[in-house]
Amino acid sequence: AGMKKGIVLKDDWPGYSLDLFTYPEHYHEDIESVYIPHGIIMNRVERLAGYIMDDFADNNNIMVLCVLKGGYKFCADLVEFIKVLGRNSNKYLETRVEFIRLKSYLNDQSTEELQIIGSGDLSFLRGRLLMFFSLFFTCTKSVLIVEAIVDTGKTMKALLKHVETFEPKMVKVAGLLVKRVPNMAESLTDYVGFEIPNHFVVGYALDYNEYFRDLNHLCVISKTGKMKYKV
Ligand code: 5GP
Repeated sequence: AGMKKGIVLKDDWPGYSLDLFTYPEHYHEDIESVYIPHGIIMNRVERLAGYIMDDFADNNNIMVLCVLKGGYKFCADLVEFIKVLGRNSNKYLETRVEFIRLKSYLNDQSTEELQIIGSGDLSFLRGRLLMFFSLFFTCTKSVLIVEAIVDTGKTMKALLKHVETFEPKMVKVAGLLVKRVPNMAESLTDYVGFEIPNHFVVGYALDYNEYFRDLNHLCVISKTGKMKYKV
């Protein structure tokens, strides 16, 4: 159960006071609090890597589909932990990483249309046709979609639908954060880091109009920050 729901942050969790941690000085006025410190994120990502190793134990390899840009840190750290756990247990899981870029946000509002930018061609998921003893087999792939945050689930639903057209052997979704919103998208996400209230968060590669990706902690943006970086 801990895995499905993730670590639940209650609605009244105020985050840690900024002066308890270090963070880039240029964001001093732009963030309200340290919502999830980087160290806790890392420990949780390691735990998720463990769940993934267990579930993918029957696969030699795994195709990791990293949803850019916000997912790049989560993906890099997750893959790193999968490698470390493999080395320590002698049960290596070969990982390959592909990148996909989607965009559905302007300022802090979800917009209607979903754009797939960059690598829209996922045909590498389809696998190769192999021939043994005059019989043909398709070597299908197991896919792990890695996304930093699942909010309404609209993005993930669209992406899953697209990925499934390539008929992979197995598809799982890792979401570092899942927002607690009406009709929560929890069921879409197999590995959840944290379930958070409906706040707009930045840091750990999550941005607000391209700012705050260089912040390691997950933070809540302040009114000043929202104004300063609005487009
Ligand atoms: P959904 O389609 O689930 O509503 O939105 C998912 C996408 O919206 C994520 O990929 C992410 O880009 C963006 N998003 C949703 N909530 C937040 C948030 O709190 N902070 C940031 N930086 N992006 C968010």
